[in-house]
Amino acid sequence: MKKIFSLIITAMFCFGLFENACVAETMPSVSWKNPTQIKTYIQPNHKYTEKMKRACYRWSLMTHDGIIFKYESSPQNAQIVVRFVERIPKELNNDSAVGITRYTYTTNNGLFHNAEIYIADYSKYGKLTDDEVFTSMLHELGHAIGLGHSNNPNSIMYPSTEHVKTMEISKEDLNILSRKYHWK
Ligand SMILES: [Zn+2]
Repeated sequence: MKKIFSLIITAMFCFGLFENACVAETMPSVSWKNPTQIKTYIQPNHKYTEKMKRACYRWSLMTHDGIIFKYESSPQNAQIVVRFVERIPKELNNDSAVGITRYTYTTNNGLFHNAEIYIADYSKYGKLTDDEVFTSMLHELGHAIGLGHSNNPNSIMYPSTEHVKTMEISKEDLNILSRKYHWK
């Protein structure tokens, strides 16, 4: 019998206040097999639960439902798990990140296995504004659907420097997704 071997690799991306907050600069080409039914668990009963759902909806809206997050009530069944933390755990970063996405994917087909997003309330300089938290959510979701970082300051995938800027999903971000998921 032919042995099928596929290696699962873990990678990590983050969003923070300084350029060096981002531990990885390039992202391998990874995508979801079923991008319109990504099973997603969002930590419930948190002040950011609804905001995170709005960020998910924003990606669906901007991709014309090319990306749809299906909410799961348990993290066990989920492909993407979102958790809210006061600060990003020290062991996960160099202490300047405000959001982190860790994910696993199989190398033989470039498909996501699962992803885990952490959204923080505080940077090392204090509490984030509502807009900054929302920007961080959009950015981490971008990683969780396969986007790497962008050098374009207008891209939501620009790794913020100095200050967390309020940003929107850009045409460039959508073009990359469109190619990745063959929407055109
Ligand atoms: Zn990032």
